[in-house]
Amino acid sequence: MPYEPMTRGLKFQIRVEDLTGRDVVVVTCPVCHWSCNVASHVFYARYHELRKLIDVAKDMKCKRCQNRKDMVWRIERAVGPQGPRLA
Ligand SMILES: [Zn+2]
Repeated sequence: MPYEPMTRGLKFQIRVEDLTGRDVVVVTCPVCHWSCNVASHVFYARYHELRKLIDVAKDMKCKRCQNRKDMVWRIERAVGPQGPRLA
């Protein structure tokens, strides 16, 4: 299933509620280049839906080197007919 960058709105305005079942947040560590995909439901489970993702990003931590500073993140949205239905 292909993914494309989600460009709707400005990054600092995106809230947890803007994430759909098609979205995945790709988190990358600037220090060791570790990266992982976090499903949108993980954010709904842990944060208020009106929380901005830039605030959520402050809680992000690298699982490999424990770095918490300047964690890089981007949202990718699954496209195509094979994707899960929008909630
Ligand atoms: Zn790291």
